[in-house]
Parts: sequence; structure tokens; C-alpha cells
Amino acid sequence: MAVPTSTPDSPRPARAARPARAGRPRGQGQWALGYREPLNKNEQMKKDADGLTVRDRIVNVYAHGGFDSIDPQDLRGRMRWYGLYTQRAPGIPGGKTAILEPEELDDRYFMLRVRIDGGRVTSEQLRVIAGISTEFGRDVADVTDRQNVQLHWIRIEDVPEIWRRLEGVGLSTTEACGDTPRVILGCPLAGELETEVLDATEPLRAVVDRYVGDPAFSNLPRKFKSSISGCAEHCTNHEINDVAFVGVVNADGERGYDLWVGGGLSTNPRFAERLGVFVRPDQVGEVWAGVTSIFRDYGYRRSRNHARLKFLLADWGPEKFREVLETEYLTEKLPDGPPPATPIQDQRDHVGVTPMRDGTFALGFAPRAGRLSGTTLTAVAELADRLGDGRIAATAQQKLVLLGVAADDVDATIDELATHDLLVKPSAFRRGTMACTGLEFCKLAIVETKARADTLYRELEKRLPEFEEPLTININGCPNSCARFQTADIGFKGSMVRDDDGNQVEGFQVHLGGHFGADAAFGRKFRGLKVTADGMPDYVERILRGYLERREPNERFAG
Ligand code: SF4
Repeated sequence: MAVPTSTPDSPRPARAARPARAGRPRGQGQWALGYREPLNKNEQMKKDADGLTVRDRIVNVYAHGGFDSIDPQDLRGRMRWYGLYTQRAPGIPGGKTAILEPEELDDRYFMLRVRIDGGRVTSEQLRVIAGISTEFGRDVADVTDRQNVQLHWIRIEDVPEIWRRLEGVGLSTTEACGDTPRVILGCPLAGELETEVLDATEPLRAVVDRYVGDPAFSNLPRKFKSSISGCAEHCTNHEINDVAFVGVVNADGERGYDLWVGGGLSTNPRFAERLGVFVRPDQVGEVWAGVTSIFRDYGYRRSRNHARLKFLLADWGPEKFREVLETEYLTEKLPDGPPPATPIQDQRDHVGVTPMRDGTFALGFAPRAGRLSGTTLTAVAELADRLGDGRIAATAQQKLVLLGVAADDVDATIDELATHDLLVKPSAFRRGTMACTGLEFCKLAIVETKARADTLYRELEKRLPEFEEPLTININGCPNSCARFQTADIGFKGSMVRDDDGNQVEGFQVHLGGHFGADAAFGRKFRGLKVTADGMPDYVERILRGYLERREPNERFAG
């Protein structure tokens, strides 16, 4: 299969603007329809210079000249192509987020996102990340719900040395943010479980090696999220990725992938849809490139809020998307294929003790709503060497997994992890709570999240010690939904609310009943249902107590 590629500076042989096909929206900046003139300042920035070009300037100019030497277009635009965002300036309350100019919100420090495609690292790689956190990042390290590690307090002067260390062990921050193919999710236990449909390690690696950092895909209309997984627990949440390959077995007993496209949350959330095709493992790279090319060429570039692939899919529908993919981007049609089987369990986080194929065990554990430190990560790396097989993985639920622990060492490893407040057998509340970066560091945030998540699950553990059912509580600092408030049993979306005295305070809009799976649904927003941040524990306690008192036999809280 041949996939045509193009960039704004080196377009593929020019296609004349074609007459609109029936139903095709016009004038949204679709390159394939001839709309090449940038329609907003982000598109102009990308046309002026590709995001990938900023690396040279960081290494050769900005790291020497310091923060004040950084070109504003690079600072708020292209630096993201290498995982760098300015942090929120300290002391700015959430209520001011929307009314300040970007430069007023910028701190002189950066967040740095390290991509861990597939989620798996070695103890050596983890030690390097941990060392960067302790040495350059004030000992903060967040495990994100997209299998990245996010560092904070990074100075521009230190970035070349940080890259040298990361790249020395095969890690990268390239295209960790920006309008690019971001980290590609994979099952943290790929290749290790008897239950998996197939091991997606190889195709995932092939896509990363071939296409990440490729200028053919470094100017997409918006961010582009991928997942390639054969996990029977559906742990990468294929439903909310722009493109997802989901392990299936076809009618001939052949193992391959079901292709989903167009998922995404934020405002206008939308679940991905199946194209109904069967993709062989050796076709994953070309098909991924074909879908990504459709997004690049036909994706909408006029409005940033209308640019994700989900909007194109909403207009085209899966049938047309498949037709364009097969006729314009692939040289052979794909056969029809089956949908994925129902996931083998509700929880997708790989927390707990899981037998591995080789007779050893994987121990999944819950940090405090994804918040860790370099010091703790160093201890985890040491533990992985001493009691595991030297491998660690991040999940898409802000959890970590130690691989290859011998049966005789399982209890000792659980105990040692607990001394670092890393729990293999956490309460339902701790296990089920996730939080985004929030007001502490994020410039878009309206409310603080990480500390509130910590307070919330600890309070609930005290107040409802008998509650053991799986549930998800996702706490987000703003409507962007980085921690997926729409897909949680109890989703919190940060906003300013009025307290009992009429004062504007940090709080949350509540969404209830979201879940993944065959009957996936977004949580319902109840009009007027808002809680102050301080009132969050009381609110969750109240609805859980109500459920415990009124539930039917065999009824479960989670959708
Ligand atoms: Fe920032 Fe909002 Fe994303 Fe939270 S959800 S990390 S506050 S953009």
C-alpha cells in the first residue's frame, strides 16, 4: 500500500480545488480541497515554520539566551512539538484564567512531557526520567492518563542536557504535544498475558519508529491520538482515540485489528466509530498513515475548536471515511471484519496481581492520582531490578505496573511498594480516582485538581470503608477533559461556582453515569448540579450512601 504524503512547504502534486461532493463542507481549510491559506494564527504559525524546526533554536539559541530570548511564536506554539509548555505563573486564581493575556499566564518554567509509546520502560529508562525530575524538576513527576510522564519546573537552559539523557536511553519528547501524532497508547502488558487477543508491540513500535518526527505528519489540523492494542481488557480506551486498532479474531481464526476512528472528548465529545474493516498486523503502519493522511488533508483548519478528526467523521460518516481511505490512500481494499469481543472485565487499569505467561506476576499499583516524585520513581526502578524483571509500565489510568515478579516475591514486593505509598490493593476510591494537571501548573485550568483528588479519596476511605465496588471519579480542572470527566461514573469539570454566601469559589460541574464498553455513554450533566470544591467529599458520600441504601440486588454503581 502506498500512502501519499505532503506538508505545506512540500505539498504533493497540487490538486486543484475540486467541486464539492454532496455533503462536503467547504471553506474549512481542508488542504485537499485547495484551501491552503492559513485561516487562523495557529495555522499561520505552522506555515511560517514547521514545529519540528524549533529544536535547533532551543539547543543553539534559547538554551544559551535564556527564557527572554525565546521568540513568542515558538514559546506558545512550536515548543509543544517537543513536549514543552510554559507552566501557569504562580498565584493566579482560576477565575482569572479566561481574562488574562497569554504572557500574563506564562511562568518562566516549562512542563515537559516524555512520551512512552506503549507505556513500557526499562528500569534504566525510569531511572533517567527520575533523575531528571529530581535534578531539574523539583522532584515532581506525574504519570498521565496517556502513558506519558510529565515533568515540571523545567528551565529552558536545561533542556539540551535533559534531551541528551533521555535520548541516550531511547526516550524522546518529540511530538509529545502540538498538532502531531502524540504518544501511541498500547497495553502495558502486551505480549505477557494469556488473555490478550494478540501482541501489538511490533506494529506499535513500527509506527512510532517510522512516523514520529516525520515532517509528513508534523502539521496536522490539531492533536492526533492513537492506540494500537490487542488487550482483552480494552485498557487503552480505543473509544476516545482519533484512530484505534483493537485486537480481534476474524471468522477464519486470523488475529488482527478492528479499526476505529474519530473519538475524542473535550467540548463536543464523541466516541470513535468502527469502519468495519479487518486490518492484518503487517498492514497497521500503512493504514495508520492513511487515516492520519486523511486527517491532514481533509481535516478542518478554520477553527481550533472544530478541528479534531471527530468533526470530519461526524460529517462524512464511517462509510465515506472507509471509501476515501481505501480509494485515495491504500492500494488495496480492506476486507470486512468483526467487532471486538466484550472486554473481559470492567476495570481497565491492570491494578492488582496478574499472572503473566512465563509464570511470574505483574503488580499494578496506584500512585496518588498520578502524582509521583523522581525520588519515588527511582525507588520503583530499584524495586523492578531487585524483585521484578527490570521492566515497568504506565497505564492509561494513571497507574504503574511492575513486571516479572516471582511468585515467592509477590508479598514482599507489595509490602515494599506500600512503604512508598504505592498500593497494589488500593481502596475502590483511590483506585478509581484520576485527576488532570489542574491549576497548580496548567494555564487553562480553572480549579486545582491533584490535591483535591488526594483529599477526596482519603476522606471517602474514612467515611465509607465498606464500599468496595469498582467506580471511577475523574477530576478535571476545566472543560478540556484531559482526565475524561465525560466517561467517569462521577465526572467533575472545573468551574467557578457560588458558595452558600454567594462568593465565587472553585468548584465543579458534575457529570454522572459515563462509561466505556459496548454500551458506552457519556455522563449526563444535570442542569445546575454544581458543587464547591470543598463540598466535593460530602457530595460523593451522599450519592454513594443513597446508592447503598436503595440499590437492587445485583445492581452495580458503575455503568
Ligand atoms: Fe489543564 Fe483543563 Fe487539561 Fe486539566 S483538563 S490539564 S485544567 S487543560
